[in-house]
Formats: sequence, structure tokens, C-alpha cells
Amino acid sequence: MYSFEYERPKGISEAVGAVGEDDKFLAGGQSFLPTLKLRLAQVDKLVDLGSIAELKGITVSGNEVSIGAMTTHATVASSADVKSSIPALAHLAAHIGDAQVRNRGTIGGSIANNDPAADYPSALVALGATVHTNNRTIAAEDFFVDLFETALEEGELITKVTFPIAEKAGYAKFPNPASRFALVGVFVAKTASGVRVAVTGAGPSVFRQGDMEAALDSNFSPDAVKGIKTDASGLNSDIHASAEYRAHLISVMASRAVAAAS
Ligand SMILES: Cc1cc2nc3c(=O)[nH]c(=O)nc-3n(C[C@H](O)[C@H](O)[C@H](O)COP(=O)(O)OP(=O)(O)OC[C@H]3O[C@@H](n4cnc5c(N)ncnc54)[C@H](O)[C@@H]3O)c2cc1C
Repeated sequence: MYSFEYERPKGISEAVGAVGEDDKFLAGGQSFLPTLKLRLAQVDKLVDLGSIAELKGITVSGNEVSIGAMTTHATVASSADVKSSIPALAHLAAHIGDAQVRNRGTIGGSIANNDPAADYPSALVALGATVHTNNRTIAAEDFFVDLFETALEEGELITKVTFPIAEKAGYAKFPNPASRFALVGVFVAKTASGVRVAVTGAGPSVFRQGDMEAALDSNFSPDAVKGIKTDASGLNSDIHASAEYRAHLISVMASRAVAAAS
């Protein structure tokens, strides 16, 4: 690890003001601290968001669940509000990594990182969530750009994520047995404007599976997606799984997600 300055502001505007061109925000540190330790990144200063109370917490208002950027995966997993309004989201958070990761890692850090195998991006895209930053709102579909790349500008701070409450939603993933990251994860949401199916782990970034959405719009049942194939070209292929195996898993996980939603 290279040496750096450390600052722990108490408010959002203080944090945004403190982060310069060669600085980074620090949330749970689960992704960024290992990167620093391995000297894969270097910063002049870390701006720790841990003392900013307004970035933490969950509220439900009308047809919307709002989750502060610094809310941990464990808090989302155990929230009575999330369990009753979008149980699939609590289920997703409960299956991220291990207890240590869930107790430190945050929703804001996870989506800012946009790891191709992260769970949350699929929920944001399928549920049609909105990412709120210190100066704008970004639709989830426009937020996740590519491998480890988002629509965030330098120094832009995620403050919260708002999720419309779906009629039904389900998530299923095939986890890497070591890390629990998704080899493939599929989030299915039945909303007033139609069914949305978002896939994580399979490609460089989260994507929607349009053929499955069309099939589920007319028949919302696990059997409706079992036979729908995804083209393997462009999917991830590594020591854990080939692109063809990931393509196969998308059909299996989608079917399980619909069963869970039902
Ligand atoms: C062993 C292990 C297993 C894991 N398994 C899974 C898994 O199964 N599924 C899964 O989805 N994830 C998994 N993760 C990743 C985990 O979810 C992390 O919590 C997450 O990737 C990063 O969140 P963090 O709060 O730790 O962010 P940090 O590591 O602190 O930050 C990550 C990046 O986001 C930026 N950032 C943080 N907060 C903000 C903000 N509010 N606004 C703007 N930028 C911000 C930081 O500057 C940094 O660039 C695993 C991690 C580990 C170590």
C-alpha cells in the first residue's frame, strides 16, 4: 500500500468538498482496500464516508423504498421494511459474500464499483431503481456503463438508491463457492409496466434479457423461460465458467427467480 492522507467528514457537502482529483471515497473498504493493499491503485487521500449519518438508513414511503448509500448489506438483509416491501432485495443482500463482507460492505460502494459479478446491479436494473448523487439522479439502466465503469463523474457522491416496489420480484444466483460472487445472477421483477429481467455475472456489466421479458409478460411462470437460450458470444469466460455454461445458467437462474417471485 502506498501512503495517503485520511479524512473523515461528517456531512455530504464536506465530503464532496474534500475529495480532489487524485482522491477517493471510502465506504466499507471491502473492494477498495484490497486494491490499495495490492498497489493496484494509488490515492492522495481517502475520504471516509463512515461518519455521515444522512447516508445511512432505509425508509419506505408510498410505493418506494429508499436506501442510503452507506447502508450495509447486513442492514438491508435484516430490514423488516425491505423484507415486507421487496423481499427479493433482502434475500439478495443476505447472500452477498460472508458475514464480514455483509457487515462492512455498502450498497453505494457496491454499485460505484460495478464489479461484473456483483449482485445489486441486477436488482437496480430489474426494479427500475434510481441512483441519487450529490447533484443529480441517474436511472439504473444508464448508471451501469461497462466493466467496473459507471456514469459517475470524478468526485460525484452516491447519496441513496430508490426502488419502486414491484408487484412481484425474485432473485436467484449461482454463486462462486469461494467468494459467493455471482457466476450468474438473475433478478426478475413484475411491474405495472411489464416484466423486467436483469442478468449479472454473465457479461462485462449487467444486462436485460428481452426474450425472457416478452415470454414472462404473457406467461409469468418458471416454465416460460426454461427453454429460452441466451447467445453466449460476448459473455464472460474464465477459470470459473465458460461463456456457454454461463448462457445455460441464465435460463436456469431465471426460472428459479420466477419461481421465487411467485
Ligand atoms: C470476500 C468477498 C466476497 C464478496 N462477495 C460478494 C458477493 O457475493 N456479491 C457482491 O455483490 N459483492 C461481493 N463482494 C463485494 C462487496 O459487496 C463490497 O461491499 C462492495 O463491492 C464494495 O462496497 P464497499 O462499501 O466495501 O465499498 P469500498 O470498497 O469502500 O469502495 C468501492 C468503490 O466505490 C467507491 N464508493 C464507495 N461509496 C461511494 C459513494 N457513496 N459514492 C461514490 N463512490 C463510492 C469507492 O471510492 C471505491 O472506488 C465481496 C467482497 C469480498 C471481499
